[in-house]
Amino acid sequence: MAGTILLGIDVETADGSGTYARLGPEFLARRGVRASWYVTGRAMEANPDLFRAADRSGQVDIQGHTYSHILLKTVFIEVPPGRTVNGRTDFFLKRGGTIEDIDADLGRAQKVFQDVLGRRAAGLTCPWGYYRGLADRPDLLEMVHRHGFRFIRSFGRDERDGQPVPLERRPFRYEPQGFPDMLELMIHDYQDDFYFAQFTGLTDPAAYTSHLKEVADRVAREDLVWSLCTHDHGCATDSAFAVKTAWLSDLIGHARSRGIRFATGAEYYAEM
Ligand SMILES: [Zn+2]
Repeated sequence: MAGTILLGIDVETADGSGTYARLGPEFLARRGVRASWYVTGRAMEANPDLFRAADRSGQVDIQGHTYSHILLKTVFIEVPPGRTVNGRTDFFLKRGGTIEDIDADLGRAQKVFQDVLGRRAAGLTCPWGYYRGLADRPDLLEMVHRHGFRFIRSFGRDERDGQPVPLERRPFRYEPQGFPDMLELMIHDYQDDFYFAQFTGLTDPAAYTSHLKEVADRVAREDLVWSLCTHDHGCATDSAFAVKTAWLSDLIGHARSRGIRFATGAEYYAEM
């Protein structure tokens, strides 16, 4: 074994999700890997035919990302000294939804999955990601479980609601909370190129690529699971899609040369 990458892409923007749905399957097929896409209900509603085709391409495992990108928990980022995160230099607060609103939103998301893809989602990425995931919120776990989700990416921040999330944090089951059939996949390291730049201050795109290759080398050496996240942000045109996926293409090639395997969230859940 030489480690595993769980490649998960949040597809959620009004101007980029259609391009991603159209170009993404071929991008993955050419590189010989599969990925999970975590798609908001409203993005899927905007381009139902494209997402249906992507779902049937065999390259993409399409899962949920709420309907409206509602947060399940409040995020309170303590910005590291000298950095600017989400436009702030001190702290950044983004409020989580109410229980009632989250419940209605998840129900609406599953209805879109049923209407567009003819099935419900088994996986859910919780918008923004949180410290400890939902481990401290059994009430939310109960709700997420009731809506049919069995593997989630909700642990995507450190104790200051920042990043990186270290690879020592392995995927885990929510057994102590009473949900042994629910798996937390994590979101490791930085949530994307833009958060790497904001949290490290290294804005040269090459810095992120070399960082990712170092992480991949460690994953291969120590046989780790790396839940890797990126987004459809800034993918309004074909050329913008090529720019956004350039580092991902480099990383996939590097990881495959190291013998790392790629698995979707659904595949990994079935194994576990
Ligand atoms: Zn998102």
